[in-house]
Amino acid sequence: MYPRRGDRLLQVTEEAPGNTFVLTPWRDVWYTSSMIQTVSTRTICCKLSLDDPSAATIRATAEAFNAAASYCASVAWDLGITNKNKLHHVVYGPTRSTYGLGAQLACCARDKAAEAVRAARAHGSDTCPTFTPESSIRYDARTYRLMSMDRVSLNTIHRRVMGQLVLGDFQRRHLYDTSWKIGGAELVQRGGQFYLHITQTKRDPEPDEPTGFLGVDVGIVNLATDSDGETFSGDQVKRVREKRFSHRQDLQKTNTRRARWRLRQLATKESRFQKDVNHQISKKLVRKAKTERKALVLEELSHIRKRTDNGCKRSQRRLRTGWAFRQLRTFLVYKAQQAGVKVVAVDPRNTSRTCSVCGYCDKRNRKTQAHFCCRSCGHTAAADTNAAVNIAYRAVRQPAYCAAPPPGGGASTSCLL
Ligand SMILES: [Zn+2]
Repeated sequence: MYPRRGDRLLQVTEEAPGNTFVLTPWRDVWYTSSMIQTVSTRTICCKLSLDDPSAATIRATAEAFNAAASYCASVAWDLGITNKNKLHHVVYGPTRSTYGLGAQLACCARDKAAEAVRAARAHGSDTCPTFTPESSIRYDARTYRLMSMDRVSLNTIHRRVMGQLVLGDFQRRHLYDTSWKIGGAELVQRGGQFYLHITQTKRDPEPDEPTGFLGVDVGIVNLATDSDGETFSGDQVKRVREKRFSHRQDLQKTNTRRARWRLRQLATKESRFQKDVNHQISKKLVRKAKTERKALVLEELSHIRKRTDNGCKRSQRRLRTGWAFRQLRTFLVYKAQQAGVKVVAVDPRNTSRTCSVCGYCDKRNRKTQAHFCCRSCGHTAAADTNAAVNIAYRAVRQPAYCAAPPPGGGASTSCLL
């Protein structure tokens, strides 16, 4: 199962610190590489300032637009149509005559409805989606236009209105980055204020041909550990979370209205904290893989939560399962794609109890949560480093697993996501 010196597929440079894998390209390992052409999407939320008459027109348009979208959704739902073209033939006439929408806004309402119905069906919902009068207006390339001086021209039921985008540095930098293509937008009302959520897309670069693998293990002792033995955010994050946890427990005991309000506030704060840490970790790992021209090797998605539950003491389980590991993984994948770093997903079963030197697998190899000691060859290591090395090895040794289509069919690329 495990690579030996002189193995035909790879040479392990044993004198190099922290297990470096030097790989001679092997057809099957790169099976999926030529087929992946991913596109990244991002949304820039911009405050939109409108004069009073324009704001009134936009409100009236939102009302008509969402009434039309609700109508389209009810038709799609009743007739079981989710295809936009098919739906178009049925709803286009009535949408225009009844709700007074122009040709292009009518198409946007239809699209919004079709997508909502499709999503509702996919989630097994048994009620037809409806839209409130204050719900968002969908704009596409023909119904809105960005102009100079941060102005924006918008289609309405009466005329085109001009709005002014109120941009901060962050938004301006992103919006006018010409490497991203501007797509559609949603006009959203929130608390009497208008926002334009502008979508941008960019074709990801072809992934580099990797010269090795960087395995990443999540959540044994540290949030993430790579196969070089580098760890990411262990103790410091743990201290912050321990403190928050005891704070939460106090509030739960108090259980007053104010305490409950404070608890909700803490939950929001905690999720922001996790998101921030996940961004930092994924950024560092992707940068490292890019610099060293390695592919990132991650655990297959379905195993993440299960793995981190196993063999944990109750007290540790609280810390482990409360972390947004899926989010961390999502960040790793999209940042890697944008940076042109290849991502490989492997089966992580037994990675924490298998010896990364001799391949001996035994539950008792993991003496404690943190320490690994092989009962066959005596190899000792930090448990998460040992697991990360195993994960990296699997990208070399289990190419067939990686390249196999996921259960239930689907594109071969989805095994990477
Ligand atoms: Zn061993």
